[in-house]
Amino acid sequence: MKEDIKVLRQLFALYAKNNRSTIVFCVLANLFTGVKSYLPVMMLGVLVDELLDGAAFADLIRTLAIWLAVIFVVNTVANILRQQFDARMENILERQNLDMNEAGMAMDYELLENAQVQEKKRRQEQVVSRWGGIYWMLIWPFDDILQGLFGLITVLCVVVPLFVRIAGSSMAGFGLLSVGLIAFLLACVWKMYRWGIRTNEQTKKDDDALAGLSRSRDYFLQSVLSGTESGKDLRIFAQEDLVEEGVCGNEEAIGKCWRAMEKDRLVMRAKRESVSAFDTGCIYLYTALCAWAGLISIGSVVRCAGSVLQCVQDINLLMIGIGAFKNAAGFGRDYLDYMNVKNPLYKGSLPVEKRRDDRFLVEFAHVSFKYPGSETYVLRDLNLSLDIGERCAIVGRNGSGKTTFIKLLCRLYDVTEGIIKLNGIDIRKYDYEDYLRLFSVVFQDYRIFSLKAGENIAAGEDVDEERAWDALTRVGLKERFEELPQGLDTFVGKEFDESGVNFSGGERQKMAIARAIYKAGAFVIMDEPTAALDPVSECQVYAGFDKMVGRKTAFYISHRLASCRFCQDILVFDNGNVVQRGSHEELVVQEGLYRELWEAQAQYYTV
Ligand code: ADP
Repeated sequence: MKEDIKVLRQLFALYAKNNRSTIVFCVLANLFTGVKSYLPVMMLGVLVDELLDGAAFADLIRTLAIWLAVIFVVNTVANILRQQFDARMENILERQNLDMNEAGMAMDYELLENAQVQEKKRRQEQVVSRWGGIYWMLIWPFDDILQGLFGLITVLCVVVPLFVRIAGSSMAGFGLLSVGLIAFLLACVWKMYRWGIRTNEQTKKDDDALAGLSRSRDYFLQSVLSGTESGKDLRIFAQEDLVEEGVCGNEEAIGKCWRAMEKDRLVMRAKRESVSAFDTGCIYLYTALCAWAGLISIGSVVRCAGSVLQCVQDINLLMIGIGAFKNAAGFGRDYLDYMNVKNPLYKGSLPVEKRRDDRFLVEFAHVSFKYPGSETYVLRDLNLSLDIGERCAIVGRNGSGKTTFIKLLCRLYDVTEGIIKLNGIDIRKYDYEDYLRLFSVVFQDYRIFSLKAGENIAAGEDVDEERAWDALTRVGLKERFEELPQGLDTFVGKEFDESGVNFSGGERQKMAIARAIYKAGAFVIMDEPTAALDPVSECQVYAGFDKMVGRKTAFYISHRLASCRFCQDILVFDNGNVVQRGSHEELVVQEGLYRELWEAQAQYYTV
């Protein structure tokens, strides 16, 4: 219980950070709605009493007019407040998406590959599709609880004075009857609360089971069947059966789970309504007895009878709201875990030295690394010193650790053992953002978005056109873009604009290189940058590489050894370490992996 309250408090704090006004409107709307529901009943009671007391007709009309005016004003204010609240609730899901996106963007890269963190995110996506999202699960019970609470407060204001009068009356048995009735009503409320809790616990269990069962379906629907990427493979390899099994495989078990959840809810509703009906009957009987004994006026009977119905509804709302709050707390834990996940990387505050000549000394000292959650070392006791401002090629077999080396240099991960230094200082001590600014990287799995080409190249909405054209010129895309009527404003793909262009794989790769050049980091890193390029384009990239990267330090990972010949320094990776280093001319005459790889490739070029 205490834990649940803590979770709910934190969820409210997260939600309120950007939505304080929704909460204010919710409180005010319910305050007025609570009062509004009882006003007609109270008015009727007052009028009946005045009639029975023989009030003059004019006085009756005046009383009626005052009450109607009050009811009108309260109703209008209540409606305006509720409309304001509802309008704010409309974008509640967007709010959650924005908050989750913000948290995701602030996460260290390695958390994006962390299975536990990603599972929590996936669970939230399920909560969205099944319950409308965690904020929705939080605010609607809040709304119900407030409505029930304010309603109850109002009814108590009406009923308690009467009740005190009855309980204190000298008529035999009525005091005891009143206390007995209260005790009985409280016992009913408690029972309903317990039922609600039990149903919610069961719902959470069913939902967890459902999450496990629908994992495969969600994967296929969200990752495989959405978008066009998988379309070709699915058709060529006739993978319909595989997909159908993935999507429909657990259909029966999922359906059973849903039916169980529906049944629980139905039983709960039936129990709650039976108890409410019984409570109402008891209170009516009690009121009738009081009136019969002459303890309350006819007007009070009217007031009581009307209030009782409302009161039973309010208690129901309160119970439903409290149960739903408990439900929200259960799901909210995962959400908070995701939103509050601690970034693993230590981030220093040292600014990176700004060098006009872009020359930096990089040093790997006894660096070993294994991926989080893995027991296998991918890099082992790597020692390297790179006095750069030069071209450095990285070659080696698949899986030898080349990309991992780059990821460590860019601090997407921290080393497991050893130290990486930039200009003699541990890279962990540098301000993280400042450090990342040094790198312009084209990863193998780069992504060009369906936005304007200029925005892709500038990696943002502010496009420095001169710089963008310069980058396009360097990668050989200038003419291609000059032919396009919208130039840099041309959309990549047709998702957002019919006149967008489906650029080829090679053109997209060139754009990714142009983005790296535009960023103008001190290090230009390219991981297989020419894999999608035709031989002529590839040749252009090599030939223009010096011009392309200017005076920057460049790392160049490639399987095509011929493309590395223009680099003065070649690092040969094998099994997580650098086994050879030197220029092409030096390495090709040495016994070793480089010559092996070179000869393996060269044989395809000899006729
Ligand atoms: P290369 O770039 O030389 O082909 P990588 O550096 O990409 O090799 O990978 C080196 C090894 O690290 C491979 O065995 C690969 O399976 C493993 N690896 C790569 N990324 C991850 C990851 N995110 N989690 C666990 N292991 C990984």
